[in-house]
Amino acid sequence: MRTILHSDCNNFYASVECVFSPELRGKPIAVCGDPSERHGIVLAKSDAAKKCGIKTGEAVWTARQKCPELIVVPPCGEKYVRFSHMMRDIYAEYSDHVEPFGLDESWLDVTGRDGMEIACSLRRRALKELGITLSVGVSFNKVFAKLGSDMHKPDATAVITPRNYKQKVWPMPACSLLFIGRATMHRLYAYGLNTIGDIVRADPESLHTLFGKNGDTLYAYAAGKDDAPVMPISETDDIKSVGNSTTPAFDICDYSDAGRILYLLCDSVAERMRKKHFRCRTVTLWLRDTQLQSFTRQMKLERPTDLSADLSRAALALLRESWAADRPLRSLGVQGGDLMDIRNGAQLSILPDPLASRQAVLEKTADQLHARFGAEALYRGVLLRQDHRLLRAAPDSSLAATNMAAVSGRQS
Ligand SMILES: [Mg+2]
Repeated sequence: MRTILHSDCNNFYASVECVFSPELRGKPIAVCGDPSERHGIVLAKSDAAKKCGIKTGEAVWTARQKCPELIVVPPCGEKYVRFSHMMRDIYAEYSDHVEPFGLDESWLDVTGRDGMEIACSLRRRALKELGITLSVGVSFNKVFAKLGSDMHKPDATAVITPRNYKQKVWPMPACSLLFIGRATMHRLYAYGLNTIGDIVRADPESLHTLFGKNGDTLYAYAAGKDDAPVMPISETDDIKSVGNSTTPAFDICDYSDAGRILYLLCDSVAERMRKKHFRCRTVTLWLRDTQLQSFTRQMKLERPTDLSADLSRAALALLRESWAADRPLRSLGVQGGDLMDIRNGAQLSILPDPLASRQAVLEKTADQLHARFGAEALYRGVLLRQDHRLLRAAPDSSLAATNMAAVSGRQS
């Protein structure tokens, strides 16, 4: 039996806006197309706005009537696309079969693993690293997984199993099944097929007569017989670089703190490159000081690598070269660029390097430990320090900060 997740970012546009403007949190907000115009429509709304009865697709002026204190925010597509990509990067760590459905929804095939546990892990990470919440459905097919993600909002997981689907799914309205358009919906209702259960209880042949091929599909969906696969992450995904950056809670004033952070960043970048079967030929260091001045330094590597050891050696050299610890830093970033895909039969190395292959075994073992037991299961000795602030600060906040940095104009 398959294990499929459907993950849906709650109030996606509105949630992203709240990440950038935390003062909006908890308030009735609506992201509206051209709010200056009377005819602008509501593209997304917060839970508080939803409570006032505001609906997606309605005119701004009627929304304002329902809720005079409504805060109207113009949409910023670029931000949403970036968050969407950051979310997909997280999904990619759990499966190589991730199929997006719009900007804010994706299916993941995690067959053979504990779907509930992965769902909870995704939710935790979305909140911690991106500041948004997810509703995740876990089931044995895509259609039920999607229904599951609609069941509880926000920040919830619903599991639909072969044992409970009749009780959980069948009472749901027929129109909640995937791909039912308005016309089909009205016809279903006209025939008294109001719930998903009604569709299963109908005679499949009459469904076929009434709805043609769609009737067969409807029946299969309702009966839990959807066998559509989750698409693999597109191999044409045009990834130019893999990077990570962080803005810790404290300013970075010396080489030892900066070095520790670089190790952390390099570990995560290398892990992601291995996951995506990439090796990089260049390493870029990005620094931003407390005056928000930022600059980058780049170096070419002797051979393409996906090892943190190589990245951190380069990043530390670049740091020494470009920063005299004379001014405090607010953010640091590392990026591997000029990527090659090792699945394309690229020549890996002309001379085998025994040291590098031992390092590769070590780092891949670390990947496996992280995948099985979480990021905290194994970390570098250099991170162990009396005050523990990095240990606590970096793995937790690094990505949140990272992604904020990415959003504020960095390629991540
Ligand atoms: Mg959504």
